[in-house]
Amino acid sequence: MTILRARQALTPAGWATDVDVEISPHGRIAAVRPQDGPADHRCDLLLPAPVNLHSHAFQRAMAGLTEARGPDGRDSFWTWRRLMYRFLDRLTPDDVEAIAAQVYVEMAEAGYAAVAEFHYLHHAPGGRPYARRAEMADRCAAAAAETGLGLTLLPVLYRWGGCDRRPLEGGQTRFGNDLDGFADLHAQAAETVVAGPADWTIGVAPHSLRAVGPEDLDAAAALAPDAPLHMHLAEQVAEVAEVQAHRGARPVQWLVDAQEVDARWCLIHCTQMTATETAALAGTGAVAGLCPITEANLGDGIFNGTAYAQAGGRWGVGSDSNVQIALWDELRTLEYSQRLRDRSRAALATANASTGRVLMETAAAGGAQAAGRDAGAIAEGRWADLVAVETETPWLAGRRRDAALDSLIFCGGNARAVRDVWSAGRHVVQSGRHVARARVARRYLATMARLGQDL
Ligand SMILES: [Zn+2]
Repeated sequence: MTILRARQALTPAGWATDVDVEISPHGRIAAVRPQDGPADHRCDLLLPAPVNLHSHAFQRAMAGLTEARGPDGRDSFWTWRRLMYRFLDRLTPDDVEAIAAQVYVEMAEAGYAAVAEFHYLHHAPGGRPYARRAEMADRCAAAAAETGLGLTLLPVLYRWGGCDRRPLEGGQTRFGNDLDGFADLHAQAAETVVAGPADWTIGVAPHSLRAVGPEDLDAAAALAPDAPLHMHLAEQVAEVAEVQAHRGARPVQWLVDAQEVDARWCLIHCTQMTATETAALAGTGAVAGLCPITEANLGDGIFNGTAYAQAGGRWGVGSDSNVQIALWDELRTLEYSQRLRDRSRAALATANASTGRVLMETAAAGGAQAAGRDAGAIAEGRWADLVAVETETPWLAGRRRDAALDSLIFCGGNARAVRDVWSAGRHVVQSGRHVARARVARRYLATMARLGQDL
């Protein structure tokens, strides 16, 4: 057993003070109990470390390269996407593994214990599958293994270039599979996950209503009947119009009518919802996968967070494009989007819990649900996904309980407060640094030097 001694710990029963958390050799929380005997580690503030529920790891390597105006002076999600396609056409399997490892180091140092990797870069440039169809998915798994981050691997089914079923072209050809090819790829990726650590999970991800038809969605759902099922949904205004024109309903409305959407579903973005759609999605038990920093960066729009929360909706957060990997900033950006829209304050707080407390608890529970990961709370039997925060800092000094979380998220906001992170008991961040940081960064720097910065 490993014993963590915490001055304050956020548990399902509320704040616990002066407790020991026992981690079993298998990586699960064996007990949360009053302090007794010697301890292996001491920490000030112990929190459940959330899952980062939406990542495209390779996009980290183009962060910062798309903030200038294009030649026609009008930049949008769609011009960004064209640049992204051009960039990814250079990437080899070795590049993807090097980039993903760097991303996972940064996620751990930000306070995440695991990642749901929404993986769609499958084939060689031009669309030819690698000798092993799941080669690229394996490279993401190798990066997770090297860095000790928990993994929910989500191989993506991507069939069409739009709702009109136009063929894939250009950079998109690296994503495409027919249903048989995808079934092979998924089965290989599942083998990799089963051979990995016991906390890893395989899911499935039909990319979006633009990229899969209704029958493709059924086929993807059937490949992994009880597993996490993630899909991009209702991110952009033009996407809503396209789905409405071809399917006769807006994306969220179409989905909740056409599919048995339940707790295994995670719908990414949902920044374009009517009040009716917001209530309908909240009622399904699915998780809304919010990526507030990327959504702000891409100009997606603002999630109907307050109405969705009032309707009992579940949500978690992900770093999506990985333009910035920062858990506290992700949570703060979500809350600020609501305040700016409504000219309000403490928008997501409740009568019993401060804003920071609601943000932290909801993201931890929603992330775990979305990832199919038995985590998200400091409770006996769960995976030991834990983040220890240093409170002897100028912005946290003297803060306790909910006020400590509020100060962490709204005042300091940077990753330096993260002192230690355990992922299913693996002690991956120690004294603020990931244990493999130096080696992973060296490889990443060499990769970036070769890739250059011209898009
Ligand atoms: Zn995405």
